[in-house]
Amino acid sequence: MSEMNKQWLLKSRPVGEPTLDNFEYAETPVPEPGPGEMLLKTIYMSLDPYMRGRMNDTKSYAAKAELGEPMSGTGVSVVLKSNVDGFKEGEYVVSQSRWQSHSISDGQGVMKVDPANAPISTGVGILGMPGLTAYAGFLDIAQPKPGETVVVSAASGAVGAIVGQMARIKGCKVVGIAGSPEKCAYVVDELGFDICVNYKDPDFVEQLSKACDKGVDIYFENVGGAVFDAVFPLMNDFSRIPVCGRIANYNMTGDPEGPNKLPAFFGQVLVKRIMIRGFISFDHYDRFPTVVKDIGGWIRSGEMKYKEDIVQGIENAPEAFLGLLKGKNFGKLLVQVSEDPTRN
Ligand code: NDP
Repeated sequence: MSEMNKQWLLKSRPVGEPTLDNFEYAETPVPEPGPGEMLLKTIYMSLDPYMRGRMNDTKSYAAKAELGEPMSGTGVSVVLKSNVDGFKEGEYVVSQSRWQSHSISDGQGVMKVDPANAPISTGVGILGMPGLTAYAGFLDIAQPKPGETVVVSAASGAVGAIVGQMARIKGCKVVGIAGSPEKCAYVVDELGFDICVNYKDPDFVEQLSKACDKGVDIYFENVGGAVFDAVFPLMNDFSRIPVCGRIANYNMTGDPEGPNKLPAFFGQVLVKRIMIRGFISFDHYDRFPTVVKDIGGWIRSGEMKYKEDIVQGIENAPEAFLGLLKGKNFGKLLVQVSEDPTRN
């Protein structure tokens, strides 16, 4: 039997926490590329928190995933057949390949990945979108200075691990926040953070306050929720908060219960002259060459490390994605869809 295109379709839109029932597995014939198109075979599929937003029927900075179609997403693929100028069979690329084993592309927005430079999986990780996100949000927006105290949430994850290591390289004191003792030990022992606090500990607020004894100059916001509530009172005058993500809120279906905290929040923003800036990685694409040069250099010199959490088999993608929203991943989450000929 000829090879089929294995796909995960969005079957229904979740209300609150997504479940396996929101996804449907399908197998369709592998498509043939037409004129000006190429056929790609996915090797690594990236799973990212933003995909939760794509499942909603709401207007956002990018198009939602459509019901009955493969879930949105990027991946590292090999070109199987090409009718696109500039792309050859056997080349490796990063593209919007979605949750499927094969995809058709017209070459728009496709980036080549050179296996001679780094493992191709890094094209959707430390040398891809998460690397760009960390670099733009931390170096360009927050503009760290030596000696400042930097707090990073989701510290062991794809973005957080890069931010914390850049903070160390820039001479800052780095305080990580993560969700398990193992993740905390990793960011301190392996990545060189100064301290890491587990936000699930009952005395998290006290531990964080002790760790940030000189207050917080930069809070790289990845999670929102109770973690933000704990960090915000510690912010110093002229501190900066690049708002990268708020994963703790992604499954929310309404406003949280309790008093309206906005007046007190804006009071503190004003009095302490805090700069809060949301950002989206794709607005910073012009920084990609610098990101790849700088982060690639730090990896080669041994100053920066990265961890990948590779789940085997496209059949396991929905479960892995649900786990990501609960902190089950440890490092950049990828699904290996087919053999990686560049990795021994
Ligand atoms: P990670 O690899 O860090 O994985 C997500 C992690 O979030 C989990 O492992 C978990 O770690 C943590 N988490 C999950 N739920 C909660 C919760 N309720 N409270 C606190 N932490 C939680 O993902 P990424 O590095 O890819 O993404 C990190 C953040 O950055 C996300 O919010 C994402 O949406 C955002 N992002 C934004 C981009 C932009 O352009 N603005 C681009 C890329 C990412 P733990 O076990 O420590 O809780």
